[in-house]
Amino acid sequence: MIEVSGLVKRHGALEVLRGIDLTVGRGEVAVVVGPSGSGKSTFLRCLNGLERFQAGTVVVDGLTLDSSAADRRREDVLRQIRTRVGMVFQSFNLFPHRTVLENVTEGPIHVLRRDRAEAEARAVALLSRVGLGEKLRCRPMQLSGGQQQRVAIARALAMEPRAILFDEPTSALDPRMTAEVLSVMTDLARDGQTMIVVTHAMSFARRVADVVHVFDHGLIVESGPPDRVLENPREEATRRFLSETL
Ligand code: ADP
Ligand code: MG
Repeated sequence: MIEVSGLVKRHGALEVLRGIDLTVGRGEVAVVVGPSGSGKSTFLRCLNGLERFQAGTVVVDGLTLDSSAADRRREDVLRQIRTRVGMVFQSFNLFPHRTVLENVTEGPIHVLRRDRAEAEARAVALLSRVGLGEKLRCRPMQLSGGQQQRVAIARALAMEPRAILFDEPTSALDPRMTAEVLSVMTDLARDGQTMIVVTHAMSFARRVADVVHVFDHGLIVESGPPDRVLENPREEATRRFLSETL
């Protein structure tokens, strides 16, 4: 579903990603961990075309993005990739003046050109699935952080994405709200949703990840099943990160 090879991203002289290779199969859950500043958010942004890169290739669901693509073709590919790859951010990023229901129907109506009644019926089903069937007419401000993040997940799902990228979705939440959001994400994973999750929630990684990738200074220093990487790390950088996180 996602195949990244040799991905290099620079900001001026700073090499933020120094040659990332990573593959995520259909229905797989990849968890990305690593210290602050190691390039995790930049990596996710390169995957759905929010950020340009200097070398390497990103293939998502058969669509290829590379550093050299001519601008016109690139815009076309970007538009397609953005509708196929959902993104959920730490800060929720909901439309503040729209209701919960409108937040979820916006993309399907305006980007996917679905008819309003159909988009609303599907949004109601998705909001019920994330436990917010009673909050359709609320504004984001009236909801807890955990509820807002579940709206953001429903909004991503409404676009029928092939994959969803999560960038520290629970970092702004207290433990109870974190548990609510991780429970929704666990259900998605069990239903076969392809996802890449950047998180510090190690219990989630242990239970749900097919593979854990450890980022350090713009490189993946270690990858493997969560039991192996988290319980029995081979690399010093992984041990250092885990000792600072737990
Ligand atoms: P992480 O998500 O792992 O904390 P980021 O991807 O946010 O890491 O950042 C990786 C590195 O790239 C950091 O050193 C950060 O300061 C740098 N960086 C990110 N965005 C920019 C930017 N727009 N301009 C310059 N440097 C940036
Ligand atoms: Mg980040």
